[in-house]
Amino acid sequence: MQTQTLQLILSPRDAWSAEQKWRVVKRSVDARQRELRVHLTVLTDDKGDPIAKDAPIPLYNPPVFQDVHNAKRSVIIIGAGPAGLFAALTLLEHGIKPIIYERGKDVSERKKDIALLNRNEGLNPESNYCFGEGGAGTFSDGKLFSRSKKRGNMQRMMELFHYFGASDTVLYEAHAHIGSDKLPGIIKRMRECIIEHGGEIHFGCRVDSLRDFRFESSDLRFKTPVILAIGHSAHDTYRMLAEEGIALETKGFAMGVRIEHPQALINKLMYKGLTSNSSPKGKERNLTDFVGNASYSMVTQVDGRGVYSFCMCPDGHIVPAGSSADSCVVNGMSASHRNSPYANSGMVVQINPEDIPGDDPLRGLAFQETLERMAYEHGKAPNMAPCQRMKDFVEGKESNSLPNCSYLPGVVASRLDQWLPAHIGKRLQQGFKDFDRKYPGFLTNDAVILGVESRSSSAVRIPRDPETLQSVNTPGLYPCGEGAGYAGGITSSALDGINAALKIAL
Ligand SMILES: Cc1cc2nc3c(=O)[nH]c(=O)nc-3n(C[C@H](O)[C@H](O)[C@H](O)COP(=O)(O)OP(=O)(O)OC[C@H]3O[C@@H](n4cnc5c(N)ncnc54)[C@H](O)[C@@H]3O)c2cc1C
Repeated sequence: MQTQTLQLILSPRDAWSAEQKWRVVKRSVDARQRELRVHLTVLTDDKGDPIAKDAPIPLYNPPVFQDVHNAKRSVIIIGAGPAGLFAALTLLEHGIKPIIYERGKDVSERKKDIALLNRNEGLNPESNYCFGEGGAGTFSDGKLFSRSKKRGNMQRMMELFHYFGASDTVLYEAHAHIGSDKLPGIIKRMRECIIEHGGEIHFGCRVDSLRDFRFESSDLRFKTPVILAIGHSAHDTYRMLAEEGIALETKGFAMGVRIEHPQALINKLMYKGLTSNSSPKGKERNLTDFVGNASYSMVTQVDGRGVYSFCMCPDGHIVPAGSSADSCVVNGMSASHRNSPYANSGMVVQINPEDIPGDDPLRGLAFQETLERMAYEHGKAPNMAPCQRMKDFVEGKESNSLPNCSYLPGVVASRLDQWLPAHIGKRLQQGFKDFDRKYPGFLTNDAVILGVESRSSSAVRIPRDPETLQSVNTPGLYPCGEGAGYAGGITSSALDGINAALKIAL
């Protein structure tokens, strides 16, 4: 049967009904107009009649993995985050054996360390929100979208997530979201597939030198290609790379705080009154049932630097995302059903290399570490986060009380307005005022800010040849993913891993 598509612009309720009956191939929510609208593309038959929901998804190509137990070619992968795992799966598709070294634990063991961390019972520096199977993406929000359409085959990446258990929506939703409760299962199935087909994954194996992968320690050649997919939190590994002469350079990054509002307030501001308390009884519940709770994306310029929201998590939780015992780092996540009463996002300020004095390519790391230690000291107890009400922060006042907040290890009132470096703090204060002008009510003491959001992007680049994707001074080494400084987020890191593997395979 020849299929076609039909584009529809519907009310949330009608869109919801259509999704229950018909095969949707694209979906996005448009909150820019007075009335909220859902844009749906549905599959139709050659007469133009919509096709039932359970019809196969067109152009869907399930992956075919080869048995690599006795493969002639193998590739070392350092790091089992999205970049490393998707590189491994791509190698399997091409009959090459992936051998992964991961410093952290497998996802089930890692869950236990994360539970301890959330109860404020200690941080394991090798097994936490950043390190372990699945990388920083495992206990994340699992938002799967990328601003750049040029990075690679997004459809392929979504198909792989779908194959390992993500719901159909990842194949058509404009802002697809997996959820922190679903991701561990998906990651585990990826590992099982890699091992079943003859690949290897070694947990608890931190790579402290690249020398073992060379013919001789004095020889610059690698025995097999090495994909370096370490993420951007492994500061010790960056320092090892510097010592071993791998080319590194500083790059711009961003730092700031995590902000948390009541979700009901964000719904009211973003859905422009459609979900306010003044709406007819029951309307708010119905509307969010159909289109989900509201998210936002904010950006402004203050004194020549961008100030913007980052990784917004509707119905989310703020989590302790540090990887060393004397630091306090916050980030956000949410479950697939998004069921917390809070909305959080990173609020960060662009930092250019020239903002940090010196010429050490790793000086951005030192700057991040300084702020993370300050946050730790102001948090006063391990992993309790320094916190201030939003309006108090902007007006330079102490918060005498703090509202409830989703951050499980606990918060401590602190004058972030006083101790954040002025080039970050002052810009955030102005940025919040700008956002309030656009969405009056956004700047409120019902919201809190927690410090510090320091791991939103890599402060280091491992430069590589744009054609071969190999390190500019170390052939055979393929830096990729967020830690290489060429990607940010799950989607682009996974795509970067796929691209590195394809360079080796083809
Ligand atoms: C709480 C949280 C929420 C997030 N939410 C989202 C989201 O919703 N959407 C999104 O797109 N992004 C999100 N992110 C960011 C996203 O997780 C990262 O951009 C992505 O995981 C980067 O992928 P990667 O594979 O390059 O690196 P990582 O995921 O960081 O993986 C690197 C891996 O390498 C390992 N490693 C490091 N050094 C060594 C070594 N020397 N030897 C062996 N192993 C090593 C680490 O243990 C780690 O497992 C979130 C991050 C966090 C922390």
